[in-house]
Amino acid sequence: MRLSGVIGQPRAVAQLEDELEAGRLAHAYLFAGPRGVGRTTTALALFAAANCEQPEGGQACAGCGSCRRIAAGTHEDLIVLEPPSAARSSQIKVEAVREAIRATGFAPFAGGVRLILIKQAGHLNPASANALLKTLEEPPPNNILVLTVSDPKELLPTLVSRCRKVNFMPLTPEQIQAELERRGEAPEEARLKAGLAGGSLGRALELDTAVLRHDLERLLGRLHGGGALEDWSFADKLVGDHRGSGGIDREGISQALDLLALHFRDAAVSAAGRPELACLPAAGPAHDISAACAAFARVRRAQGQILGNAAPELALVVLLGELKEAAVHG
Ligand SMILES: [Zn+2]
Repeated sequence: MRLSGVIGQPRAVAQLEDELEAGRLAHAYLFAGPRGVGRTTTALALFAAANCEQPEGGQACAGCGSCRRIAAGTHEDLIVLEPPSAARSSQIKVEAVREAIRATGFAPFAGGVRLILIKQAGHLNPASANALLKTLEEPPPNNILVLTVSDPKELLPTLVSRCRKVNFMPLTPEQIQAELERRGEAPEEARLKAGLAGGSLGRALELDTAVLRHDLERLLGRLHGGGALEDWSFADKLVGDHRGSGGIDREGISQALDLLALHFRDAAVSAAGRPELACLPAAGPAHDISAACAAFARVRRAQGQILGNAAPELALVVLLGELKEAAVHG
């Protein structure tokens, strides 16, 4: 786990390497950027570099006892706090924060630096944030706090102002594809996942392309079948498939439409004479560029409505109707 091995974050890595080399590490960092782009990996790589018993040119050696315990997730000076689930209501409780803060009262067990990593720090409740604030005002030596957030606005300004900010960027599809292939994914699958991942390697790794392809086939099947009534029952079924105990999974429905958007995007690049830019193996039906772009925009608009507060069934039925009509008249 080396800083030099972090993918696609050269500025963040250079900043941390410089600060580590100069002995100017902050006692608290805010790692800000989208989910799945390497914030946790970078925090662990920084922790490894700061504790390595035989560092090589500022990089962790990956072979010493400290590096091995970090890789195995068993290092005694690593404390990780995170919300119990991804649900918006899920909170990092004040008891967990207090326990981590108590640990900072003791010198790190291994004699190096302790890392307290607070993932998705936007889930700190007000009591937790206040407890943390006191530690940030008078930080004990040899403790580094790293808070990860998608957007600093998720945190109280008083917390943000006490942390040194490091920005993380979305990855490019090429970087994601290369990493997936390095992990053994077939090039065609890797390309498809990279195209759908929205810059997040974490999301690419979670994608189940078999399910997505099945959803795409169902959607394309509907475009070739008539009848508003059938569209309604199709939409009811699709929304029902994404209904859980926490209500409708709007994100899941939107993801089901991602492949349809990609389908029209592929049609557009193929029509533009650049089929090598397509992500889906099978070429879409012959569209002219403007029809394909309009269809792509319609899908994206429906996704926006679904992620907002629109009734998802209605948004789907309207989308299907528009796409069918465009195909007839286009
Ligand atoms: Zn080492």
